[in-house]
Amino acid sequence: MNKYHIKDASRFALLLSQREQEIRAELRALAHVPSSRDDFTGHEVLDFKDVAVEETLARLDHANSQRLEAELSQVMNAQRRIAEHHYGKCLDCGDPIDLQRLEALPAAPYCAGCQTTHERDKFTHHQVF
Ligand SMILES: [Zn+2]
Repeated sequence: MNKYHIKDASRFALLLSQREQEIRAELRALAHVPSSRDDFTGHEVLDFKDVAVEETLARLDHANSQRLEAELSQVMNAQRRIAEHHYGKCLDCGDPIDLQRLEALPAAPYCAGCQTTHERDKFTHHQVF
């Protein structure tokens, strides 16, 4: 298994800042999507179909921006870990995270094993007492 080494810091810092820029651009684009209501200037009444489409789009935008904001905070946490020299270690078990995993997901906070446990916990949470 290849491990993250301090010599990789600048490479991962660059990957993370690129991802941060992408996420911020997507969030800006979502925030600035003109409401479809603008297309109806001059029309006082929207029919029900248009309202339904608009609500669906608004819900999708909301889900997208929540997902992007969650990813942005992971990216920023990872940037802080690079600065503090804790990057590349699983936040749960402290083991090094596989370098290939980090290259695919530079903001990954957990090793593959712990990530699986976290995802399972999320789904079984309500059955565990
Ligand atoms: Zn782990």
